[in-house]
Amino acid sequence: MPDYSHILVAVDFSNAATVIGNRAIDVSRRYNSDVTLVHVIDYLLPLGYADDFTPTPAFLIDENELLEQGKRSLQSYAEKVGLSDARKQILPGAPRQEIVRFAKEQAVDLIIIGSHGRHGLDRLLGSTARSILNDAPCDVLAVRIKE
Ligand code: AMP
Repeated sequence: MPDYSHILVAVDFSNAATVIGNRAIDVSRRYNSDVTLVHVIDYLLPLGYADDFTPTPAFLIDENELLEQGKRSLQSYAEKVGLSDARKQILPGAPRQEIVRFAKEQAVDLIIIGSHGRHGLDRLLGSTARSILNDAPCDVLAVRIKE
């Protein structure tokens, strides 16, 4: 039996994030796991996040402000899905690399991601999901996000 004592939930604030949050609650209850919610601020992606998760052009936003917005959005997300007690981590960088790096560094033993997020449903698996599945140091649960 696997021992999922530390679960990383990759939160991108798309519609998929609510589905993933609910799955994380189920799995963490079953394994009595610690949960860390991780959101990566991708400076290359021209989107920031208002408190209501509405995309805003990132070039209009100061870098510190983007980090603060990310923290506030992660806090609201955690409260909304019922994961207020989870650890919360904002990381700047490329999502696929930062999620794998953080998982290695923090001895995560399960990563929960959506099969698709902000990059649309045009492929079988989104690009971030595919990359994490290839490079992760641990099990990955890719929750199927339906159209
Ligand atoms: P994608 O492959 O970009 O469609 O996204 C698939 C999944 O990767 C999403 O459902 C999230 O779980 C995760 N993900 C994508 N971008 C981010 C991000 N910036 N921060 C955290 N997780 C992300």
